[in-house]
Amino acid sequence: MNVLLIGSGGREHALAWKLASSPLLDRLYCAPGNPGIAEEAECVALDVVDHAAIADFCKDKAIGLVVVGPEAPLVAGLADDLRAAGIRVFGPSKAAARLEGSKGFTKDLCARFDIPTAAYRRLTDSDAAAAYIRERGAPIVVKADGIAAGKGVTVAMTEAEALAAVEACLGGAFGIAGAEVVIEDYLEGEEASFFCLCDGLTALPFGTAQDHKRVGEGDTGPNTGGMGAYSPAPVMAPDMVERTMAEIIAPTMRGMAELGAPFSGVLFAGLMITADGPKLIEYNVRFGDPECQVLMMRLKDDLLVLLNAAVDGQLAHMSARWRDEAALTVVMAANGYPGTPEKGTPISGIDEARAAGAEIFHAGTVLADGQLVANGGRVLNVAAIGHSVREAQTRAYTAVDRIEWPGGFCRRDIGWQAVEREKA
Ligand code: AMP
Repeated sequence: MNVLLIGSGGREHALAWKLASSPLLDRLYCAPGNPGIAEEAECVALDVVDHAAIADFCKDKAIGLVVVGPEAPLVAGLADDLRAAGIRVFGPSKAAARLEGSKGFTKDLCARFDIPTAAYRRLTDSDAAAAYIRERGAPIVVKADGIAAGKGVTVAMTEAEALAAVEACLGGAFGIAGAEVVIEDYLEGEEASFFCLCDGLTALPFGTAQDHKRVGEGDTGPNTGGMGAYSPAPVMAPDMVERTMAEIIAPTMRGMAELGAPFSGVLFAGLMITADGPKLIEYNVRFGDPECQVLMMRLKDDLLVLLNAAVDGQLAHMSARWRDEAALTVVMAANGYPGTPEKGTPISGIDEARAAGAEIFHAGTVLADGQLVANGGRVLNVAAIGHSVREAQTRAYTAVDRIEWPGGFCRRDIGWQAVEREKA
């Protein structure tokens, strides 16, 4: 089977690396890809917003499956357009991608199908929003309804902060994505990421992870796309997975089918594990980045077989097996990130880092005259396996130290909560 993978980040490099090991695979293409992905796939310069050009490419290259990595093409209806052209796609329809594209949509689904989540209100008027904030009190959370490049959420510790977030949002700080706000109660607990592969009817549990969103050590400083992750999430013990499946995932699958938008693809639940059990913070409709990197390190089964089963509605007959070890990835970012990252700084030592026993997944790199250079905020993922999170962490940082890149930095404490827990 020939496969086309859409995307260019660390998540897609990990998917390409795993897909490339499948005996079912003939040729792997990636649009647009990056220099790391180019070691596993033929990178093609297709414009991802040009759905007709992608369909033409698929016909020309006899593509048997398209795997869509990021959310933006899914929310824009790429899967629908390819399916209409008779092409098999792993990824949700535009209607099902509303689970990520509209926070208000997801909250209404939760209300209608009894899915545990924070109490909320959808609002478009700032006076009404202010009244609701005063009624509920702080801490309180203000969210832009649409996709705002990971910047649309304010966890406000005071009413004043919440009111300012509403003003910014409804005032156009996030464009159309912020024309409506969702205001919800603050949830207390431990966060975890939970993944399922879905085929419209069946959801197959597909691993757990925890990530570090803040740029600074000790989880301080501004939010980022993610500075590192590990899997499994210690808080997601088998009974918690069972509760999450029964209380959150199953009613979501039923609800989406009932709304005429059955969900297929990756369902990524951001959870808060509270004293009352798991509550949904948000859904994403694709793998997390960098969570995907640690999941792929641990997956024993053939990813291509599983994705095909999802596309064919056969997940009820499948299982996914995982290595017992922990996996951990450290994100290396360009100086300046998450503000304006410095571009074009040279990177070396990738082979030496691999020789130290890590996988290096490229996120924001490019080749300039044969030299690997930084070309984005998050640039490399250094991922390793270990019998404990501590061992995976030590291996990952040993490899990090072999990378020569004065233009970049990383956090030195990825996995710290899990390591503390192991010590206890
Ligand atoms: P998001 O951009 O939706 O992933 O949200 C960013 C972060 O905000 C989440 O990872 C949580 O840490 C936090 N958050 C979102 N909603 C809530 C909530 N209702 N209570 C507490 N924290 C929240």
